Amino acid sequence: MARVIRPVLAIRCVVSSCKALFEVAEVEKGKTQIVVCPKCGEYYEYPSPENTNQG
Ligand SMILES: [Zn+2]
Repeated sequence: MARVIRPVLAIRCVVSSCKALFEVAEVEKGKTQIVVCPKCGEYYEYPSPENTNQG
């Protein structure tokens, strides 16, 4: 049984003076992820998607 590699989330900083694009590891379902922009240090909160494409 092959192990599925979790995709990463591409996040773009919304700070006009930053606009940095960085990737973070996807968290477990039902959890909220707090990520920090490596460039400007802005905090972002990403709720995990509830809907799944594959069943
Ligand atoms: Zn930033």
